[in-house]
Amino acid sequence: MPTHDSGATRLDALIIGAGFAGIYQLHCLRDRLGLQARVLEAGGDLGGTWYWNRYPGARCDSESHAYRYFFSRELSDEWQSTERYPGPAEIRAYLGHVATKFDLRRDMQFDTRVTAAHYDAVENLWRVDTARGEKFSATFLITAVGCISAANVPDIPGLKDFRGQWFHTGEWPHEGVDFRGKRVGQIGTGSTGIQAAPVIAETAGHLTVFQRTANYSVPARNAPLTAEFQRWVKDNFEQIRAVAQTTVNGHAFRISERRVADVSPAEREALYQEAWDYGGLQFRGTFLDLLTDRAANSTAAEFIKARIRAVVKDPATAEDLADIDHPYSAKRPPIDSNYFETFNRPNVALVNLRRDPIERITPTGIKTRSGEHPLDIIVFATGFDAMTGTLFKIDIRGRAGRSLRDYWRGGPRTYLGLQMPDFPNLFTITGPGSPSVLTNMPVAIEQHVEWITDCIAHLRKNGIRTIEPAEASVHSWGEHVEECARATLLYDAKHSWYFGANVQGKPQVFMPYSGGLHRYRKLCAEIAAKGYEGFAFDRTQPASLPVRAAEFAGAAAAPGV
Ligand code: NAP
Repeated sequence: MPTHDSGATRLDALIIGAGFAGIYQLHCLRDRLGLQARVLEAGGDLGGTWYWNRYPGARCDSESHAYRYFFSRELSDEWQSTERYPGPAEIRAYLGHVATKFDLRRDMQFDTRVTAAHYDAVENLWRVDTARGEKFSATFLITAVGCISAANVPDIPGLKDFRGQWFHTGEWPHEGVDFRGKRVGQIGTGSTGIQAAPVIAETAGHLTVFQRTANYSVPARNAPLTAEFQRWVKDNFEQIRAVAQTTVNGHAFRISERRVADVSPAEREALYQEAWDYGGLQFRGTFLDLLTDRAANSTAAEFIKARIRAVVKDPATAEDLADIDHPYSAKRPPIDSNYFETFNRPNVALVNLRRDPIERITPTGIKTRSGEHPLDIIVFATGFDAMTGTLFKIDIRGRAGRSLRDYWRGGPRTYLGLQMPDFPNLFTITGPGSPSVLTNMPVAIEQHVEWITDCIAHLRKNGIRTIEPAEASVHSWGEHVEECARATLLYDAKHSWYFGANVQGKPQVFMPYSGGLHRYRKLCAEIAAKGYEGFAFDRTQPASLPVRAAEFAGAAAAPGV
C-alpha cells in the first residue's frame, strides 16, 4: 500500500497519462520491479490519444497488426483486430483488454489532471499536485503524456463571438456532433482534416474546407481483415515484431533498398502505382531515397499530384489541392479514405487560404478576404502544440526551482529525449529528441518504457539516488538531432509542426530524432551497457527505497512476459 507523508500519498513511481505509454510503464514498474506505482490520468478513462480523438473518420494510420504491444505473445494471440486500420473504439477496447489482463486499473486514477510537479532535493522526491487538490510524492516521475495531445486552436479574431458551435478534433465530444443539414466549415488539411472531411461531408448540408497548405495523401484502403490475415498475424508474431523493431520507423514493413535512379521511368511509375493500389504509409517505402534526395522525392510528389488532378473533376479545385509546396513526406504524410473524391460532391467547396486568407470569424461564419462563408459549425482540425505543449501545461520544476519552461525557452533540450539536467529521476516517454512521432508509436513507446524500467532497476540495485544527464550530453545530443534532420528532406518543410511552426511564438527547432528507431534503439542499449554513459549519478546516500526481491526478475529480459 502507498504510505502518506504530510498529507501526500507516497509512492515509488508516479506515471502521468494512461495511453499506450502509461499503461505499459505501470505494468513494468509494478509487476516487474515490484514498485508502488500509480498512473494519474486527466481523462475519464484510459486510451490517451484515442480517448480524446473521436472526430468523424478518426482511425489509426498504422496497421492494426503493428499498432499494438509486442512484449507479450500471449497478449497478441488473445487479441483479434477487425480492420486493417483500427478505429478509436477498437484501440480503446484493446487497451482495456491489456489493463484487465494485467489488473492495471486498480493503480490508475482517472479525472485527475496533474498541475504541478516539483523536485524536493532534500527528500529526493517529486512532489505532485493535481487539479482536484490531491498531493502525491514519488521518487521517480515518468511523463507518458503523448506527443500530440495539447490541442492548438488558432487565435483567429472573432471566435468568441461566433454564435454557432465549434469543436477541435482533439477534444471531440464523446456523444458526437450532429452535422445533418448544417453548414460546416473545417479549418485544416493535415492527417486529421483529411480523415474528417469525407465523413463530415456525408451528412452535412454543406462543407467548406479551408486549406492553408495543400497536402499529399495516399489512399488508406481500409477494409475488414480476412480470417486468413488474422491467422497470419497470429502465426507470424515473432516475424512481425522483428521487422517492427528493426526498421527505421517501427512499422511492420521494410523500406525498399532500391533508389529511384535504379529503375526506368516506366518501372518507377509501375512501382508507385502498385504502392498506390496497395495503399497506406508503405507508399513511403517504395524507394530508399525518397526522404533524402529531392529529385527522387519529386517523382513521388508528381505521381501523387497527377492522381489528385485525375480524381478531382473541377480543374481549379484540383489545382488548389495539388499546389503542394513541400517534398512528399517532409510533413507527416496523411492517408485517406476518399479525401480527394470528396471535392467532387456538390455539397463540398474548397477555399484556398493562400489566395483568400481568413480575416476573422464573425458571429455567423468565417470572413475571408473575398467575402463571408456563413456557417453553423466550425471544426478546427488545426493540430497540436506538439511535443512540448502538454508538458508545459504542468508546472514542472527541478533543482532549485528551475522550471522546464525556462530550460526549454529556446526549444526542447534533452538527452535521448528521455531526461534533462537538474530534473533528476524524471523520465519523458517519447520526449522531444527521440524518434517518437516519426515512428509507429507503440514500438517507440515499448523501447522507452523498457529502457526506463531497466534504468530504474539499475539505480535501485546499485544504491544510486538520482540519475540525470550531464549538460554536455544534452548539448551533443541536440547537435546530433539537428544533424540527422538536416540530412533529410524533413528539414525543408519549415512550416511543419515537427519544427513547432504551427504554434505562434514557439521556438523553431526540429524536435523529433530522425536518425531512425533502429539506430536509436541500439544507441540507447549501448549507453546503458556502458554504465549509462552521459548521465550523472548521485550516490551520496543509499537509495531512498529498499530493494525488493522481485525487483530484477524480468526487467532486463523484456520482451517476453
Ligand atoms: P496538423 O498536421 O498540424 O495539421 C493542421 C492543419 O491545420 C494544417 O493543414 C494547418 O495548415 C492548418 N492550420 C493550423 N492553423 C491554421 C490557421 N490558423 N489557419 C488555417 N489553417 C491552419 O494537425 P493534425 O492533422 O491534427 O495532425 C497532427 C498529427 O497527429 C499528425 O501529423 C499525425 O502525426 C497525428 N495524427 C495521426 C492520425 C492517425 O494515425 N490516425 C490521425 C490524425 C493525426 P498549415 O499546414 O499551413 O500549418
